[in-house]
Amino acid sequence: MYQQSDVDRKFTREVIVEEDDKPPDPGSVLTSLNLGNLDLSHFFKPSTHRSLEIIKRKRPPRSSARTRLFRRTWFPDASDHQWNDWHWQIRRRIHSADQLERILKLSPEEKQAVEFSGTKLPLGITPYYASLLSPDDPNHPLRRTVVPTMHEFFTMPCEADDPLGEESQSPVPGLVHRYPDRVLLLVVDFCSTYCRYCTRSRMVGHGAFHAAKSRLEKAFDYIRKTPEVRDVLLSGGDPLTLSDERLEWILSQLRQIPHVEIIRIGTKVPAVLPQRITPQLVKMLRQYHPLWMSIHFTHPEECTPEAYRACRLLADAGIPLGSQTVLLKGINDSVETLKELYHNMMKMRVKPYYLYQCDPLSGSGHFRTPVEKGLEMIQGLRGFTSGYAVPTYVIDAPGGGGKIPLMPDYVLGRDANSWILRNYENGEFRYPIS
Ligand code: SF4
Repeated sequence: MYQQSDVDRKFTREVIVEEDDKPPDPGSVLTSLNLGNLDLSHFFKPSTHRSLEIIKRKRPPRSSARTRLFRRTWFPDASDHQWNDWHWQIRRRIHSADQLERILKLSPEEKQAVEFSGTKLPLGITPYYASLLSPDDPNHPLRRTVVPTMHEFFTMPCEADDPLGEESQSPVPGLVHRYPDRVLLLVVDFCSTYCRYCTRSRMVGHGAFHAAKSRLEKAFDYIRKTPEVRDVLLSGGDPLTLSDERLEWILSQLRQIPHVEIIRIGTKVPAVLPQRITPQLVKMLRQYHPLWMSIHFTHPEECTPEAYRACRLLADAGIPLGSQTVLLKGINDSVETLKELYHNMMKMRVKPYYLYQCDPLSGSGHFRTPVEKGLEMIQGLRGFTSGYAVPTYVIDAPGGGGKIPLMPDYVLGRDANSWILRNYENGEFRYPIS
């Protein structure tokens, strides 16, 4: 038999309630605690239910003041239901010069680029993401990532439309097989918001790749006949812009292939369209474990209440979350900015995974930093913050060589007896060879 004090210790719970929620009645709490047949009702008498502490905590607001102001200004008629509906966000995307000019004071360089683009990567920004942009400052970091400038139209000799040589490593349309045991499956070419530095800007947003069953079945056939493939990364475009039904069909097809051990999804949705992460979506996703997710976060200003909620839903569904961040000149190329981003992500249960050197994509020179800058970022993070908050800095080798990790040099040399090493504070240490 439990003593009352044991029960108190065992079943005391913190029930976090919304500010505007009523505290639950003791009966419903008992049910939600799933205590089986144990009769605990006498511990929850209305006047004395000491063993249940209901702690009313103030939750962070559901959206930032900036987003609320933007919405009131530009979408005053949108109901909460519409604003929080991902289909509505996609339908109301900003995709023309006129729409953009209505909400942002465009610089001449931006205005010209928006009017000029057509064959290049399209313009597309969800209202939610547009709410995070500065209306006046063309150098605002997030604004630079999604609003085109004329720099996109200048190609340097070292740049290419397909810098990673993906086309030459594609045995069937939309599938890239570069590494021995894993493949990249481009399921769709659509994104809710287009990043101006997108490595696949040669194909995304042009309507060339639909998630058509006939095309995808060829990819599944290839995977089925290639038993060394144990890991499939779904990317695009953004796979999470597909409907739950189409995504589930893809996941279920892959899960029927015995040698596919893990499935990963690469997405920017939690940053640009967090409304897409619904309880229904995560309920479906969690049926296809082991399922991992690589989220594309760029800057601390993307870590909004909406993004936190999206990552919480995903993490609570048992999906390990990692992030891929491209190092971008004048946007996130300082240790302070990256540290803030990574600390925010750790709170969102997203492990900083890769920090990418910007690929030599046509028209990306204005985004690219020298490699020394990337090494400086790692040097400034390693040892100065949690190891979990330090990503691997990589160059994706032009021409299809795969990811090559780069580290500041911590090995100073060796002599007959020891390795000579330096630590994060430049202290010199010796480690015995044998
Ligand atoms: S979300 Fe990814 S695929 Fe889409 S535009 Fe951005 S980088 Fe490209």
